Amino acid sequence: MAVSIGKCRLCLLDHQELQESHFIPAGIYGITRDAEASNPNPLLISPEMYVQTSRQVKDYLFCGDCERLLNDNGEQWMISQCFRSAEGRFPLRERLQGVDPFLSGKGSLGFNTANIRGIEHGKIIYYAMSVYWRAAIHWWRIGRQTITPINLGQYEEKIRRFLRKEEQLDSNVYLSVWLSGREIPNVISSVPTSHCVEGAGIMHRMNIPGIAFVLTIGRKVNDGVKQTCLIHVPGRPMFVSFHVDDELISNLISTVKTSRGAKERKE
Ligand SMILES: [Zn+2]
Repeated sequence: MAVSIGKCRLCLLDHQELQESHFIPAGIYGITRDAEASNPNPLLISPEMYVQTSRQVKDYLFCGDCERLLNDNGEQWMISQCFRSAEGRFPLRERLQGVDPFLSGKGSLGFNTANIRGIEHGKIIYYAMSVYWRAAIHWWRIGRQTITPINLGQYEEKIRRFLRKEEQLDSNVYLSVWLSGREIPNVISSVPTSHCVEGAGIMHRMNIPGIAFVLTIGRKVNDGVKQTCLIHVPGRPMFVSFHVDDELISNLISTVKTSRGAKERKE
């Protein structure tokens, strides 16, 4: 297997044998691949492009120990819990069945999940933070295209230390988790993209099949966002919404428009 020698971006140790690390975990490609479709490759969305590709986005960034740390603390469990089209199952959402929602309205339901057996909140949080952080530290390439990093500002280093298990997440970091309410959710992965939302600041969104993650950071985050936070709210709220897929589609449409616009400007 090819390796490269250099500084590991997670533990910061020099002269390490760097592994070929994935941006989007390899397991996500497996479940987003639709073997029966005419183009069976997963659809990947980023601000620069939307592509259906078998090429995985990867580069030499982490040492073997850090690669294992990322994998063992969130990836495997999270991949096992999202919507799995081949089996027609959505394990994380199935765990909410029979639980009374604390909130209901506008096509959305809110559940306190702190006491639901089998939900590993630490792994959901670790997984999401690891992908957001990867999106911030590197210009990932897919073919000749590059994916513009998201900006986590001073929190980038704090999140690195959290991923190394050296400190807790900062109290100004908020993560909301939304599950699709559709019987058959879209089987789409998107890399983190940043959106300016009025009254709430910058939100970084990303999707894996059936699940949307929204990260909001800063001192000015409004109370509405704070109350949805899986990290800090003791009830560990999670939401099921029929809008998750629609938002993903509208995001896709604006991505298509943006990438066409970018192309036209270049020509
Ligand atoms: Zn390392």
